[in-house]
Parts: sequence; structure tokens; C-alpha cells
Amino acid sequence: MNICAVFEHLLAPHRCLLCGGGCRQALCPGCLAQLPQAPKNGEWLEDGLQVQASWSYQPPADTAVLSFKYGGGESLARLWAQQMAPRVDGQPVLQQALTERVALLRAVRTRATPPQQGLSREARLRNVDGAFRVPARRQQRPVLLIDDVLTTGASLRALAAAARAAGAGRIEAVVMARALP
Ligand SMILES: [Zn+2]
Repeated sequence: MNICAVFEHLLAPHRCLLCGGGCRQALCPGCLAQLPQAPKNGEWLEDGLQVQASWSYQPPADTAVLSFKYGGGESLARLWAQQMAPRVDGQPVLQQALTERVALLRAVRTRATPPQQGLSREARLRNVDGAFRVPARRQQRPVLLIDDVLTTGASLRALAAAARAAGAGRIEAVVMARALP
């Protein structure tokens, strides 16, 4: 490794998930700028759950999210949290979760469910209904649900129901990308 390569490696220890170029985080600035942004105001699901998405699940954001799911790991999560933090200004639950260390509760599946891909909206709702359990915590604690892709919202609704059953207070959700159902 020559001195330039050493220097480049020190400055750019990661490879961009999309173009493979050296960079200091999961995506290089050029690729990051190309990700289609989701509407900034978020949206409300039918059951009153507010969801904030960072990106629209279209090229090249879909590739980045898939890379994250299948091996891109923590570096994209870190970049995503940085991107998301300014969006949640004034929303204490989200801001606290994304900028401070908070207790993470992992929802557990109560049964195996087939993948949601390719299912109709009704089938998706049926597929995940009652499929999650959240460990009980002190009553009325705010809960932030974190997921990778929002399509019909079936998984988030099932997770919110599980959180409510565990005594959660205010519930909000963030996702990396919003897909069209
Ligand atoms: Zn790149």
C-alpha cells in the first residue's frame, strides 16, 4: 500500500454502499444526494400512528436499503439517524430516540410469518396480526418504532398494537424508506 492509499484509507475507511467509492460513511456525498426524499411531514396511518420516512423506496434508495438489510449494517443506520434528526425537530419522542441513548426494546415474534412481499394489503394485515410481542415496561412510556421500509403499514400497526398491549404511552414510528403499496 503506497502512502497515498494509506492516507485515503485513513480518511475513507468505508466503501460507499452504492458506488463502491471510498468514503467516510455508508454513502458518498454524491450518492447520498441522489436518494429521493420522502415527504417531510410524515404521514398518519389509519390507526393514528404517525410515521416519518427519510427516503422514497425508489432507485437508488431501494438498493441502499437492501444493502443495509443484507450486510451494510450499522454504517447506514448511523447515517440514517443523522439524516433523520433534523426532520424530527419539535417531536420529543423521535428526537430523544435518535440523538440520545435510549433503551432499545426488541419486539419478538410470537409466530413465524411468511414474507410480506407480494401479498395484498388485506393479506399483509392478516399475516402480521398478533405476530409481535413487546416486553412489558413501566406504564405510559413513549415508544418509538423503527423499521426499514413502510409499504402498507401492516407491520407497524401490529407492532404498535403490541406496544400498546405492553403499556406504552405515546407511540411514533420512523422508517428508512416509504414504498408505494
Ligand atoms: Zn457513492
